[in-house]
Amino acid sequence: MSAARVIDGAAAAAALRQQLRERVTGMARQPGLAVLLVGDDPASAVYVRNKIRACDEAGIVSFAARLPASATEAEVLAVVQRFNADPAVHGILVQLPLPRQVDTNRVLAAVAPAKDVDGFGIESQGALMAGQPGLRPCTPAGVMHLLQQTGIPLRGARAVVLGRSTIVGKPMAMLLLQADATVTVCHSGTRELSAIAREADVLVAAIGRPRFVTADMVKPGAVVIDVGINRDPATGKLCGDVDYDAVRDAIGPAGAITPVPGGVGPMTIAILLANTVQAATSSH
Ligand code: NDP
Repeated sequence: MSAARVIDGAAAAAALRQQLRERVTGMARQPGLAVLLVGDDPASAVYVRNKIRACDEAGIVSFAARLPASATEAEVLAVVQRFNADPAVHGILVQLPLPRQVDTNRVLAAVAPAKDVDGFGIESQGALMAGQPGLRPCTPAGVMHLLQQTGIPLRGARAVVLGRSTIVGKPMAMLLLQADATVTVCHSGTRELSAIAREADVLVAAIGRPRFVTADMVKPGAVVIDVGINRDPATGKLCGDVDYDAVRDAIGPAGAITPVPGGVGPMTIAILLANTVQAATSSH
C-alpha cells in the first residue's frame, strides 16, 4: 500500500503569515504583542525569541519584559497590569512555565480577555466552551486551520483526541465539536485506548509520549494529527507522539498525516500572530 499524503504545516503557516503581513500593512495602527518571560529557562528563551522574530516579520510591534526567576507573584501581576493598560499592546503572552512561587492560574486570569492571545485565561476558555466569540488557544486553533486547509470534512466525522490538557487536548476537543465532529477524549485512565483510536476518522495525538501511536492504532484513510514534541530517547532527535513512518503506511493513500517537525508546530506561532491581529482589529 502506498503511503498517506503529508500535511505541510510549514507551508500552511508561511501562507498564513504572508496573509497577515499584507493585512497589517493596511491597518491604521500597528498591532502590538507583549511577551513576558520570567526566569532563565533556556527553552522558554528560545520560544520567546522565535515569537519576537515572527512578530517583526509580520509587521507586529513586540514588547518584551523580563523578570528574574526570583520574581514574586505581585511583580509578575504588576507587569501584566501594565500591559493591560497600555493601548499599544493588543496581545499579551505570558511564557510558561512560571517559577513555582507564582500561581500560573492567577497570572493567566489577570490578562485582559481582549488581549488574551494565548486563549488560556478563564474567560477565553469559557467563551470557547460556550461557543461564543473569543481568542482561541493557538495550538488547537492551528490544528483546525490545517484540517480546514486540507479540506477534510469534519461534520459527522469521528474524532478522537488523545490528551486532555487545558492548553491542547480540551480546547482541541471543543473546536472539533464546534465543527460538528463526534468527539472522544482519551487520557491516562482510558480503557481500550487503541480500539477507540482505531475508530477515528480524525486522530489528534497530544500526550507527550514519543511514538505512542502505532500502526495498529489507526484505520486506513484516517487523518492523523501529531501535536507531540518529544526527544526520541534512543537518538535524541525531535519526534512526535506518532510512529510516523509506520502510521503513514497504515493509513494508506486515502489518509493524511502531519510530520514532526514541520506539522502542527509552525502553525502555533502563526495563530499567535493571527490572534494578535484579531485582537488589534477588535480593539478599534
Ligand atoms: P500534558 O502533559 O499537559 O498533557 C498530556 C495529556 O496526555 C494528559 O491529559 C495525559 O492524561 C495524557 N496522557 C499522558 N500519557 C498518556 C498515556 N500513556 N495514555 C493516555 N493518555 C496519556 O501535555 P500537553 O497537552 O501540554 O502537550 C502534549 C504534547 O504536545 C507534548 O509533547 C508537548 O510538547 C506538545 N505540544 C506541542 C505544541 C506545538 O506547538 N506543536 C504546543 C503545546 C504542546 P492525564 O490527564 O490522565 O494525565
